[in-house]
Amino acid sequence: MNKAIALYVHVPFCRNICFYCDFCKVFYQEEAANRYLDTLERELEGKNYWFKSIYLGGGSPSSLKAYQLERLLRMLSKYKSESSSFCIELNPEDMDDEKLSLLKQYGINRVSIGIQTFDDKLLEKLNRQHNKQMVFKLIEDLRNLEIFDINGDLMYALPNQKRTQLLADLKIMVEDLKLPHISTYALSIEKNTYFAVKKVSALSDDEAAEQYALIGEYLRKANYEHYEVSNFARKGYESKHNLVYWHAEEYIGLGPGASGYEKGVRYQVSSSVSAYCAGKITKSHEEIGLDEQAYERIILSLRLKEGLDIEKYNQDFQRDFLKDYEKVIAKLLKDQLVVIKRKHLIVKEDKLFILNRILCEF
Ligand code: SF4
Repeated sequence: MNKAIALYVHVPFCRNICFYCDFCKVFYQEEAANRYLDTLERELEGKNYWFKSIYLGGGSPSSLKAYQLERLLRMLSKYKSESSSFCIELNPEDMDDEKLSLLKQYGINRVSIGIQTFDDKLLEKLNRQHNKQMVFKLIEDLRNLEIFDINGDLMYALPNQKRTQLLADLKIMVEDLKLPHISTYALSIEKNTYFAVKKVSALSDDEAAEQYALIGEYLRKANYEHYEVSNFARKGYESKHNLVYWHAEEYIGLGPGASGYEKGVRYQVSSSVSAYCAGKITKSHEEIGLDEQAYERIILSLRLKEGLDIEKYNQDFQRDFLKDYEKVIAKLLKDQLVVIKRKHLIVKEDKLFILNRILCEF
């Protein structure tokens, strides 16, 4: 094995379908999951890498039965090193003692839990199957196994969600559970979801922006680092895997609906789960030219607290960033939306909620 690269594995099964979900997933079915694992194993054959980060997402990797989860973790664990991040997404209701001990046995060192909210009524509205107690129990079990690197997903802008409900969620995550990493997501109503069909409305953009500001204020006060537009971490607990995406580094994507980026080519695996399980893998490829790579560097870097490293950009793309974007930067500086610090262009923390508007300027 000769190269460190990141790996994303998409596990497209769920025991239950949430009302807002437009990810690539189907209802769990044992036979299909076995065939999925057969295809995945064949895909991994001949991969001459060790992975500095392996991320099992979905769908719900935890929806697999224990013997299937063991097969999956065994086939992947041989591609990691001592220092690799090995992360899995979990739904609390899927977990039992047997599956938990497999995580430890195969070296999982980071877990991301689909919490969304602790308000059991809101969870019901989203058609989530867990409750607050299950999250508490799972986190206690993980810590007993000495898995401390835990992310909690937090959703906001939920239908009729009040400021006090969001504050209560934040308080539990920070004060009761002391989570070292929190990823935040605003609910958006996507086509073909149950919510779209039922014409459920999310909060207005203004209300969502207000809630976003509230989250930032609360977590910064609690000494979390707002290191990416939607992500907060205690020092040292930033997501190594997501940083690969935000730094536009190479990664391999396996499984239906996964995407990857290797040698300047982005690819997308077809999202047909049945075709994948039958061993047919179709991918679309797109070559990313130098102009697009440079543009992506700007867009992705400005999501991060560290911002865009101007000297590195100039060196990598043989350009002069400040000259090429002279007018745009002058306008953004005048409007006090960005700062230039230690040769980095950085979006001001209190302006991150209009990041998309800022990015449009480029
Ligand atoms: S568990 Fe995740 S992937 Fe599965 S339906 Fe819910 S949101 Fe979608």
